[in-house]
Amino acid sequence: MNLILMGLPGAGKGTQAERIIDTYGIPHISTGDMFRDAMKNETPLGVKAKAFIDNGELVPDEVTNGIVRDRLAQADTEKGFLLDGFPRTLAQAEELDKILDGLGKKIDDVLNIHVEEEVLIERLAGRFICRTCGATYHKVYNPPKVDGTCDRCGGHDFYQREDDKPETVKNRLAVNIKNTKPILDYYENQGVLHAIDGNRDIQDVFVDIKQLIDSNN
Ligand SMILES: [Zn+2]
Repeated sequence: MNLILMGLPGAGKGTQAERIIDTYGIPHISTGDMFRDAMKNETPLGVKAKAFIDNGELVPDEVTNGIVRDRLAQADTEKGFLLDGFPRTLAQAEELDKILDGLGKKIDDVLNIHVEEEVLIERLAGRFICRTCGATYHKVYNPPKVDGTCDRCGGHDFYQREDDKPETVKNRLAVNIKNTKPILDYYENQGVLHAIDGNRDIQDVFVDIKQLIDSNN
């Protein structure tokens, strides 16, 4: 089972990724981990990537794709893998197909955890902080016991980080949606894209994912 997990920030991708790899015993392949491993093991491509990163430059696609190829050729992917955070562009998606073709593999399912934008904004933009003691709260998931009063220090002065403000979150999501659209279309056309309703309990979302994987693999 060769899977790709997609979803916007706040959609609960990390939690579901953990459950999938625990249940099916396939490796979780995230871009971050691949890069860290390649650089730590000083593979030729890892050394190249490090030079770009050290210079504060973006790692070119050909290096990233090479690292992905190296990783997907490793023995632990025999039973399958869960790709997370890759591909990020349509060009990478096309290249991924070529890489897999060369390895005699293909993508079986792309799972897109879908949560409405308004819900994501509520999840991601709800965080606020006590100015006096630094305790963090969330409007919905972790509010102070007494509204407007810090549990820890009794202070009443709260603020939001720039990153946690609704406008910032909204812009970040908009960029993400725009970038993801061509990739989702690409997999839709291949008939491997599945939308998972992510606006429910973690367990309910996983039941759906499991059913889908079990019926297709
Ligand atoms: Zn406080």
